[in-house]
Amino acid sequence: MIPPTSVSEIIFPSEVRFESCQLCRRGNCPSRQAPFDPNLAQRYGIEE
Ligand code: SF4
Repeated sequence: MIPPTSVSEIIFPSEVRFESCQLCRRGNCPSRQAPFDPNLAQRYGIEE
């Protein structure tokens, strides 16, 4: 399929660094910007 990926963003100012990848469990993603954070995922109700 072309294109292989697409991108959409919500941009806002923050003093805390955040990447959506911190809440994503996809393995071997070539675009990963940060490691998965299980504690953050639990805080946002994504993980129990
Ligand atoms: S790990 Fe990959 S699929 Fe998951 S949020 Fe990051 S870029 Fe997207």
